[in-house]
Amino acid sequence: MQITPATLLCGVLLHPSGHTRSPAMHNAAYRALSIDAVYLAFDVAPERLADAVAGLRALCAAQISVSLPHKRAVMAHLDRIDETARRIGAVNTVVRDADALVGSNTDWSGAVRALERETSLRGARAAVLGAGGTARALVHGLIERGARVRVLNRTPARARALCDELGADSAGSLASLADVPYDVLVNTTRVGMNEDVSPVKASALGADAVVMDAVYEPERTRLLRDAEARGARTIAGKWMLVYQAALQLEAWTGRPAPIEVMAEAFDRAGKRPKAARSEPKANEAQ
Ligand code: NAP
Repeated sequence: MQITPATLLCGVLLHPSGHTRSPAMHNAAYRALSIDAVYLAFDVAPERLADAVAGLRALCAAQISVSLPHKRAVMAHLDRIDETARRIGAVNTVVRDADALVGSNTDWSGAVRALERETSLRGARAAVLGAGGTARALVHGLIERGARVRVLNRTPARARALCDELGADSAGSLASLADVPYDVLVNTTRVGMNEDVSPVKASALGADAVVMDAVYEPERTRLLRDAEARGARTIAGKWMLVYQAALQLEAWTGRPAPIEVMAEAFDRAGKRPKAARSEPKANEAQ
């Protein structure tokens, strides 16, 4: 990569930053598309978020990604937020429109694109495990694509609240997965991140379903292995991450993103020696 006087500054705001593979994906895409830009990880503590956004504004950063824990808080520091990001309650993408910083969300569209690698969502019966920030993006995306959505959570009252707010069909506990038929299952709970456990019993997994795990570390989670053993088709959380990054790039450049290049960069970044990376704990992942 050649840094020139015209090189544009891009990056991701997050905290902590040791685990992120976003720089690997975006820089690989810039090289593939001959874009004169560099993408860095900015480790910003929550109390410095306003300063960080002001700094990036002053430095004319071209494209900014936003990761945990800033996806909701960053909204207060932007000039405009698109309607979908407002509905989901989170921004993961900031682009410049003249002097204005405009927030949007590609978590939902990235997740939908990953699911659509395997199945059509129109009319599908979808079950979403979890009721946190990622569940909000998934529930919005699935409804937007015409699926009927059931939200299941460890704390069923949170599932009910999300269901009512976003217009899903029904809500329940994680254990109630065994009681309802579904075509698509997405885990958005934190269960399985760097641990070999699944949020649901293997016996509740159907052979005809498509199962996606938002958890991406490890790539083959216990849930995905259980689903495969039952005969289901599976999608790794890696694809959600790759597509949300690809859609950020497309929103900025207006050009098709090199998906395979970004996926390979994601894989290579995951193979760096463990000692050189600080692994996310279950409560500090993407
Ligand atoms: P969050 O807002 O904190 O929500 C966490 C969810 O996990 C809640 O529904 C919570 O249930 C549930 N949960 C936590 N511990 C649990 C346990 N021991 N048993 C059962 N349920 C449990 O988290 P988030 O930001 O949505 O992130 C969720 C996961 O998605 C993380 O692993 C994150 O890395 C991943 N993610 C992946 C991508 C991607 O592109 N692949 C993007 C974003 C996030 P309660 O409501 O009962 O507490």
